[in-house]
Amino acid sequence: MASKIVAPRGTQDIFPPQSGRWQELEARIHQLARRYGYGEMRTPMFEATELFERGVGDTTDIVEKEMYTFEDKGGRRNTLRPEWTAPVVRAALQHNLVQPGVAQRFYYVGPIFRYERPQAGRYRQAHQFGVECVGFKGPEADVEVIAMAMHLFRSYGIDVTLNINSIGDAACRGKYREALLEHFRPALEHLSEDSQRRLERNPLRLLDSKEERDKPFVESAPPFEAYLCDACRDHFEHVKKYLNQIAIPFVVNPRIVRGLDYYTRTVFEFVSDALGAQSTVCAGGRYDDLIKSLGGPDTPSVGFALGEERLLMTIDAAAESQENERRGIQLVALGEVARELMVTMCSLLRYSIDAPVFMDYDDRKLLAQLKIADRNNARYALVLGSEEISAGNAVLRDLVERSDRPLPLGKDLVPSLVEVMKS
Ligand code: ATP
Ligand code: MG
Repeated sequence: MASKIVAPRGTQDIFPPQSGRWQELEARIHQLARRYGYGEMRTPMFEATELFERGVGDTTDIVEKEMYTFEDKGGRRNTLRPEWTAPVVRAALQHNLVQPGVAQRFYYVGPIFRYERPQAGRYRQAHQFGVECVGFKGPEADVEVIAMAMHLFRSYGIDVTLNINSIGDAACRGKYREALLEHFRPALEHLSEDSQRRLERNPLRLLDSKEERDKPFVESAPPFEAYLCDACRDHFEHVKKYLNQIAIPFVVNPRIVRGLDYYTRTVFEFVSDALGAQSTVCAGGRYDDLIKSLGGPDTPSVGFALGEERLLMTIDAAAESQENERRGIQLVALGEVARELMVTMCSLLRYSIDAPVFMDYDDRKLLAQLKIADRNNARYALVLGSEEISAGNAVLRDLVERSDRPLPLGKDLVPSLVEVMKS
């Protein structure tokens, strides 16, 4: 026998019934975006490598070690999208959507690619939903995107904690940088290799380190709060005030910095206890300098990216005991005459109701077909055999309540089924 080919390491196939949950999540996402006035952006799955080198930052994990980069036949260096913010900004600039004084709201849903060590909640192809609110410098925009993510979590009734912090701007970053250098330099030889290499170029990155070796030094590092300039402090205070005003609870966590170079002022993460080591479901912040650095006008912006896999895992953990809701109907034909009748019924029902209509076409006994109904998670089964045909009634079985009722055959059958399935 030929050997089987399997999906690449760190990737996942999504198939029924799990794919239904993805569709449901993405339907919610599109609806949420509509309510908040965000328009969808779709960009190519690959971009010029330089976009990420400049737009994500060359001391980040993503650019240093996680990109899928390849040379095409024309000798260009391309990279599979490892994150969406740089591509969305690139597209917005390319199509002149970013203009002074005009705010824009974009969202996206789709795959990202990162060469990571695969484990639960960490994949080489993952999927993100994210938003970019472009062109507002005020704290209202920070709070708007945070509120959107929270809205999605609340719609699932799951418990996630919002951590926020401010990492200042060009005016106050310099002083904090010095303070960090002073803190980490004496410990240099005890730090991880990555941190040793990054210290002089970007000491803020060290606070984001996941290495055990760095932990004690990261924990004792000075918090940014003391170094914020007046304007940044005021911005941060307003973010907190607005969050209180619209009843979004948060924790100020000075260890949240985000890995990217262009983040300024507000940064935040939503974390879930249900996830173990990969506990961050959603992360984001303000990036007032990114658009300029990619060749656009000076445009303050804020956004987040949310991992769809991690969100679904959080929902699973919360709903572990809840049984899958049954939907739709299984048509059970016993014998050839019944089957012929039911092919028509099946066709009519599929036009008439917004729920799955299942039918098995093989010659099977009643019990076997009811088993199939269970596997399909159908709510009802409609049974038709020669006995039922001569009595003039099909039998509708409610598979949840385990009750039967006769439904007269004839032109009223489909309308009465539609009626039953509505309730
Ligand atoms: P982490 O600290 O877990 O590596 P990150 O800082 O690299 O995350 P971001 O680039 O901010 O993550 O991406 C936003 C969100 O996308 C993450 O919070 C997570 O939910 C999800 N995500 C990122 N990388 C992966 C991955 N490799 N597999 C699954 N989800 C991911
Ligand atoms: Mg990462």
